[in-house]
Amino acid sequence: MSLKSSARLLLFTFAILALVVLANQRAMAQSVNPQPVQDTDEQRIQELAIAYHILFTQNVIDGWGHVSVRSVSNPRHFFIARNLAPALVTRNDIFECDENSQPVKPGVQMVGERFIHGEIYRARPDVQAVVHSHAPAVVPFGVTGVPLRPVMHMAGFLPQQVPVFEIRDTAGEDNEVLVRSTRVGAGLAKALGDSPVVLMRGHGMSVVAPTLKMAVFRAIYTQLDAAIELQALSLGTPKFLNEREAARVNAINESSMRAWDYWVAQSEVVSASLIRAMPKQIAAPAN
Ligand SMILES: [Zn+2]
Repeated sequence: MSLKSSARLLLFTFAILALVVLANQRAMAQSVNPQPVQDTDEQRIQELAIAYHILFTQNVIDGWGHVSVRSVSNPRHFFIARNLAPALVTRNDIFECDENSQPVKPGVQMVGERFIHGEIYRARPDVQAVVHSHAPAVVPFGVTGVPLRPVMHMAGFLPQQVPVFEIRDTAGEDNEVLVRSTRVGAGLAKALGDSPVVLMRGHGMSVVAPTLKMAVFRAIYTQLDAAIELQALSLGTPKFLNEREAARVNAINESSMRAWDYWVAQSEVVSASLIRAMPKQIAAPAN
């Protein structure tokens, strides 16, 4: 082979290699930064019905508890299910509430604690979804002064000490324990501060996130972290994730909602059979 032919072959090989590298870089860029999906209120409402079922099958909420999502078209409003057990919620059971947590459609019987959601949306413009749960595993940390902390890698989003809402600070000694007004909701939002989770003394927790999927993820792993911390405390002195460990592992965890499709499939099997068995008078929305 002549020198000229060798140079040409070398150039050709380099060109092919450059094309392969460019194609790989483009594919990687697309996988890291997927094209933004269209985000509409209807899409959020449909995903919200699924979120109810997932939180039920993952034991975060039972016959009580709720999850909401902020409206895209009117960000001062949010969507939440009417007063119905979470596993039985369908798309048609989800209604819009205004900035004072009142239903836009009059006459619909909404959950009494919807003020948790409305006041958190008011105080935290970064929040797009809120979960409220009575998960038993978190309650001991709200009543003992023992802090809930990130002890397992999937809960790296937790702060070094999860804040606790003491309702007596807002509503006095003679209170309902529940958050059933804008005033008490504002007190809860203040206790939440910039945290992703706030415990509620003798009651449960509220969890927030910049997406609905992430709120579901955080609610599931907050209660698991609490269960593990309880076990660890019974064995000895737990070694918690430090701030840097928590932040680094959380960046990895929250970059992929890999479990979402599995949670959807699992929860739809359970909720579909429950909804089929639901009495007709409950199935029909109140209004
Ligand atoms: Zn509650």
